Amino acid sequence: MMDEDILEKYLKAGKIAAEVCSKLRAMLKPGVKLMDVAEFAENEMRKLGGEPAFPINISINDVAAHYTPQFNDEKVIGSRDLVKIDVGVHVDGYIGDTAFTWCAEENKLIGASEKVLDAAIAVIRPGVTVSEIGSAIEAKAKELGVGVIVNLTGHTLDRFVFHGAPSIPNVKNDNKYAFNEDDVIAIEPFVLESNGTVKDSTPVEIYRYVMGRPVRLAEARKILELAAGKYNELPFAKRWLAKEGMSPLKVQMALNQLEQLGAIETYPTLKESRGRPIVQAEHTIIVRDKPIVTTRMAE
Ligand code: MN
Ligand code: MN
Repeated sequence: MMDEDILEKYLKAGKIAAEVCSKLRAMLKPGVKLMDVAEFAENEMRKLGGEPAFPINISINDVAAHYTPQFNDEKVIGSRDLVKIDVGVHVDGYIGDTAFTWCAEENKLIGASEKVLDAAIAVIRPGVTVSEIGSAIEAKAKELGVGVIVNLTGHTLDRFVFHGAPSIPNVKNDNKYAFNEDDVIAIEPFVLESNGTVKDSTPVEIYRYVMGRPVRLAEARKILELAAGKYNELPFAKRWLAKEGMSPLKVQMALNQLEQLGAIETYPTLKESRGRPIVQAEHTIIVRDKPIVTTRMAE
């Protein structure tokens, strides 16, 4: 059994993530700056007693994931944009990871992604296999006449570990790994008109600590210290480093050097390979006979 205080932290992180999402839904409209959405969300997480587990992802149209506002980002939400908001909150390292898609116009894919996610949650119980979850997602997507991104997956969560193994494909697969009671997993189907893939693209705005390395550049030392310390070896945004009093140019030089040394890794923006619009839905779930969806807003 999961310790009661750990369960409480997972529930608190999930609740904060859900609350932030619900406030963001009220805030989103054409003309709103992505930077204002990001700053509001990350401040709100802290105000509610959590910390960002990763920089908020605000990914638009054919961008699937890993876009977060850049230094002085002036982009605004457009009237036809499909906006995917992916929020991660941690409380003492215990993470709630959730995403939704918003559009000013009616969009059939959004409802479909939520139904696909619900179909996956419906098969979760102790003993459920990675393969059964993938099959449930694929079957529901087929039934609804939509496709999924076949090279993006759900994942397990652990303390200060997001995207743990095994990963959970959104399609049929042969992985017979069975989840145990109290495992914590995130299910996140990315839905589009028919099956597709994503590929690495630009810009690169999100990074993560890998290992300590000797570096000369003062900025590189400072970034490594932040990455291992304040950011808890969880993903961080280039944008966050500006608040630490470093110039964007020096930050970029330092990040490049750290990447070359293998001290940090990058999360490049992911785009649909054929430029097609994508939607995403995600929840964090504690595996039980009656699964606990930690990131679902209480009715
Ligand atoms: Mn997520
Ligand atoms: Mn996730």
